Amino acid sequence: MSTIVFATNNANKLRELREMLGNEYRILGLADIGCTADIPETADSFEGNALLKGLYVLEHFGYACIADDSGLEVDALDGAPGIYSARYAGEGHGAAANNAKLLKELDGRTDRKARFRTAMVLVDSDGSHKTFFGTVEGSIGTEARGNAGFGYDPLFTPDGWTKTFAEAAPDEKNAVSHRGKAVRKLVEYLKSNNISSNIYD
Ligand code: IMP
Repeated sequence: MSTIVFATNNANKLRELREMLGNEYRILGLADIGCTADIPETADSFEGNALLKGLYVLEHFGYACIADDSGLEVDALDGAPGIYSARYAGEGHGAAANNAKLLKELDGRTDRKARFRTAMVLVDSDGSHKTFFGTVEGSIGTEARGNAGFGYDPLFTPDGWTKTFAEAAPDEKNAVSHRGKAVRKLVEYLKSNNISSNIYD
């Protein structure tokens, strides 16, 4: 089986990628290649931050890889939390605090339209790279519902659904999610270009 290095230490993102690609590729996370660094995410876009992570892994560990940066954009908050999604409630706070802050910011608002976005970058061994994007439109609820998924999933209901991502089975979420869309485009690209070395044993 071919191997792909995914430049993340986010256990939930790794789990999702393995759910989607586990039968076709072995997915290694940063811990698996001995990288424990907190890679700086100092760019001003999802794509820029994904690229920083991917190039860091290539430069310091010599692996071609894929990397993603993702987050939630809420229209009534002018696109916040956006690239700050992981640390919306401040450094060191987790999903519960982020969700509580989001509910507070939206208190009394009727416009609850939002979307998850991801930029997924494929970084080759020569530093060249290609980006794949994924978006899922939806809305933010007035209370957390469900225990599956991670991050803002208990507050996010995709358009056309009645349940939140956190109330969905993994396959249901992956079929429509931002990350699911981006990863399917990336795999399509790998296959149609017959890319089988470096990233993949
Ligand atoms: P990153 O690891 O810097 O890309 O930060 C991503 C952050 O965006 C996560 O910590 C979550 O807060 C949020 N996020 C990204 N994707 C999802 C998702 O699929 N569900 C819920 N939250 C997500």
